[in-house]
Amino acid sequence: MGKPTGFIEYQRVLPQKDSAENRKQNYQEFVEPYSEEQLNNQAARCMNCGIPFCHSGCPLGNVIPEFNDAVYDARWEEAYEILSSTNNFPEFTGRICPAPCESACVLGINKSPVAIEEIEKHIIEIAFKNNFVKPHQSFIKTGKRVAVVGGGPAGLAAAAQLNKAGHDVVLYERDDKVGGLLRYGIPDFKLEKTVIDRRVKVMKQSGVVFRTNSEVGGNVPVSELKEYDAVVLSGGSTIPRDLPIPGRHLKGVHFAMEFLKQQNKRVGNSPIEVEEIHAAKKNVLVIGGGDTGSDCVGTSNRHGAASVTQFELMPQPPTERTENMPWPTYPMLLKTTSSHEEGCQRHWSISTKEFLGDENGHVRAALIVDLEWEVDASGRPVKFKEIEGSARELPCQLVTLAMGFLHPQYDGLLQQLGVKLTERGNVDAQEGEYKTSLDNVFVAGDMRRGQSLVVWAISEGRECARKVDEYLMGYSELERKDKSVSYA
Ligand SMILES: Cc1cc2nc3c(=O)[nH]c(=O)nc-3n(C[C@H](O)[C@H](O)[C@H](O)COP(=O)(O)OP(=O)(O)OC[C@H]3O[C@@H](n4cnc5c(N)ncnc54)[C@H](O)[C@@H]3O)c2cc1C
Ligand code: SF4
Repeated sequence: MGKPTGFIEYQRVLPQKDSAENRKQNYQEFVEPYSEEQLNNQAARCMNCGIPFCHSGCPLGNVIPEFNDAVYDARWEEAYEILSSTNNFPEFTGRICPAPCESACVLGINKSPVAIEEIEKHIIEIAFKNNFVKPHQSFIKTGKRVAVVGGGPAGLAAAAQLNKAGHDVVLYERDDKVGGLLRYGIPDFKLEKTVIDRRVKVMKQSGVVFRTNSEVGGNVPVSELKEYDAVVLSGGSTIPRDLPIPGRHLKGVHFAMEFLKQQNKRVGNSPIEVEEIHAAKKNVLVIGGGDTGSDCVGTSNRHGAASVTQFELMPQPPTERTENMPWPTYPMLLKTTSSHEEGCQRHWSISTKEFLGDENGHVRAALIVDLEWEVDASGRPVKFKEIEGSARELPCQLVTLAMGFLHPQYDGLLQQLGVKLTERGNVDAQEGEYKTSLDNVFVAGDMRRGQSLVVWAISEGRECARKVDEYLMGYSELERKDKSVSYA
């Protein structure tokens, strides 16, 4: 334990952010690093609990009290070794994870939790700066070949781990650059893409072969997968939920990903081959209250939108834990992101009934209505009714639909492979096994578990790699995730 009285002496402090006005002028990250003293104080707050609930709260099983201790003593290389033993990409999770570890932190029972996510980000940034992050050299090669199809966090983690086990790994990615939703979903102001490029460079030097602009089941025939001893599918959950109401066809109504992907391409100087969508001077309506919606808000403000409004069908969540979300579970609380701070009108319990168009077939307004929700005994909203007389028009010239994702894309890869699907439409494989209905084909990430989080994608990629390694070799020496319960 770093400092026994640290949690009494120091308050939780998060790093400074650039002002909302300044950061809206560009697409760069805007969170400053801690000073040395701040970082030391934040690590000192960790109580090194007998039962570290933070550790079970993390889907990766990150060994948090141990790295907090090493940070407190400025044993940077050791901190990096501990962190990288469970997490291939702390530079991603340290920036964009909703930090279920912090929700489970014991200090959070009656104080603010340890700033675990920020500490994690500092460890990996210090590690890169001091050249601790080195390519992995496998001295023993197994001679086995593995194809990973899909270069998001799940595929990248699986590829890194399989390469570490000595297999020859080829990663296929249909986009021009790897990263999945980290690259072409999550905006640069949350995660600058140089952070992905820096990691991909290390992976290339470690021996992973990347084949971009290669869609398996598209311009790469599925039959090519027969050349491999095993295959990992990590294509994500990419089919968005639609809003099939009158006027959906109008110009200016788009899926959120069409809007967000374009902006990331613009920042990354990649060609945009479709009609450009821009929010400048428009009244923007974002439908959907989650991370994707919040990213549309931040992007619209950077475009110079006249106004940004965000709707959510569900009622406004509470700001503090209720009886139904006790510690250490991950609570569904009201989340105000940095994008919301930059300017947005947020409304809950609203249903959009129709998009209204102008004479040019372009959206001019949304017809909306307020809802009244009925809750069950546990306080969960179960049924709604429209409030009579509340129907009205909201002027908008751009609408982004950010209501989640349904399942993976079937056309091409999955259809041609003939892999079995679950009732919900994801690729079938048990958690902990990752093996599909086909003999040497495994699956990880959103393609298996449905739309989720980066930390889960990395966790699944790692665990899946171990199963593939066991399948190929009969045993695996890749790290095993702690089997303790996860509260995420
Ligand atoms: C806008 C947005 C914001 C988000 N923000 C956050 C956040 O702040 N924090 C968080 O934790 N999570 C966030 N998420 C969720 C998170 O990004 C995903 O859960 C995670 O990226 C899933 O990883 P994955 O590797 O399974 O799939 P993906 O990241 O979707 O990657 C799949 C990859 O497979 C490729 N692919 C698909 N089919 C083929 C094929 N046939 N051949 C070759 N390549 C193929 C795709 O092009 C893609 O690159 C966000 C999601 C979105 C959409
Ligand atoms: S639960 Fe919180 S205080 Fe306890 S060991 Fe983990 S980070 Fe430290």
